[in-house]
Amino acid sequence: MQITEIYKSLQGESTYAGLPCVFVRLTGCNLRCSWCDSEYTFQGGRKMSLEEVMKEVSRLSPQGGLVEVTGGEPMLQEREVVPLMERLLAEGYGVLLETSGERPLATVPAEVVKIVDVKCPDSGEGGTFRMENLQTLTKRDEIKFVLASRADYEFAREFTHKHQLCDRVNAVLFSPAFRKDATGARDASHCLLDPQQLAAWMIADGVRARLGLQLHKFIWDPAVKGV
Ligand code: SF4
Repeated sequence: MQITEIYKSLQGESTYAGLPCVFVRLTGCNLRCSWCDSEYTFQGGRKMSLEEVMKEVSRLSPQGGLVEVTGGEPMLQEREVVPLMERLLAEGYGVLLETSGERPLATVPAEVVKIVDVKCPDSGEGGTFRMENLQTLTKRDEIKFVLASRADYEFAREFTHKHQLCDRVNAVLFSPAFRKDATGARDASHCLLDPQQLAAWMIADGVRARLGLQLHKFIWDPAVKGV
């Protein structure tokens, strides 16, 4: 499989945020979200076998723990990435899969926690969510909306309500988008949607979602990769 990087850090944006985690970041994405902070994954990387990936994961986290398979869009390499997730599970790792929601998810092993985006209008990729993926979601999974505006918030609120997401998954996350050129300050000034404003809307509407902040952008300089 084509890999951009494998590194150990803290999980940043789900109910697993704050936990130590090894990230296996696959190369390539078929979407082009306007606020994407992972454009460096679109090309390049290096070919690694399943054994080579497992060796590196085990070197970084010999005691087991959490592994996040991410990208880019990891499910573009479904033929390689599904056996990788099966192997990680077999070796006792907890596995998270971060995916755009555009690729089919039916072949993802049931024990994997799927963290699935539903792209909102301001991303420029609205409407790409594959509706049949709703049937693959379980109580261990999480749905994430990255929001850049009031229009995005209203879309997320309505989609959550219409498809009764809170009854399908472990968590529905509303997360303010970050400016992709953010650097320097490690605070909310880089958010395209002020978290305070988002919190006010969520409280006023009684939305059954969780406000999520990208933890790593507040710990390290937002421009730093591989953290
Ligand atoms: S799906 Fe993810 S990696 Fe792909 S363009 Fe959107 S934010 Fe970037």
